Amino acid sequence: MMSEETQVTHYLCIGCPLGCRLEVEAEEDTGDIVEIRGFSCKRGEKYAMQEHTEPRRMVTTTVAIRNGIWGRLPVKTTEAIPKEKVMDLCHQLRQVTLEAPVEIGEVVLPNVFDTGIDVVASRSMPQVSGFAIPKGNLIQN
Ligand code: SF4
Repeated sequence: MMSEETQVTHYLCIGCPLGCRLEVEAEEDTGDIVEIRGFSCKRGEKYAMQEHTEPRRMVTTTVAIRNGIWGRLPVKTTEAIPKEKVMDLCHQLRQVTLEAPVEIGEVVLPNVFDTGIDVVASRSMPQVSGFAIPKGNLIQN
């Protein structure tokens, strides 16, 4: 016997600053979507569908880098990855240590979880060429 019970889940669209409040009504038994409401454009409807069935997130973080002008390099995924993989990816990136120089867009971790999505450098990191201690600040023993 088919149940006609449905459940409404609410989402906030992040597609633009308007921030439409989205509603996805789905059958309780099967999870099949009955109706999507509250969107003001097709993008919002697609977002609600994606968020309800397979939520994804962009990952932006930093990785360790040796011999760079800074100790950490900002990196990001080229596209959003499945939400349940975000913590695993962050864990993998904690094991990565790069060597400067690195160019913006350079692939840091290719094809994460076989998704075809890469993690790339989101800025360039020149190599440090050694640093000079300014005169007057010389440390003497
Ligand atoms: S539904 Fe469309 S108009 Fe509304 S917040 Fe999302 S992208 Fe913007």
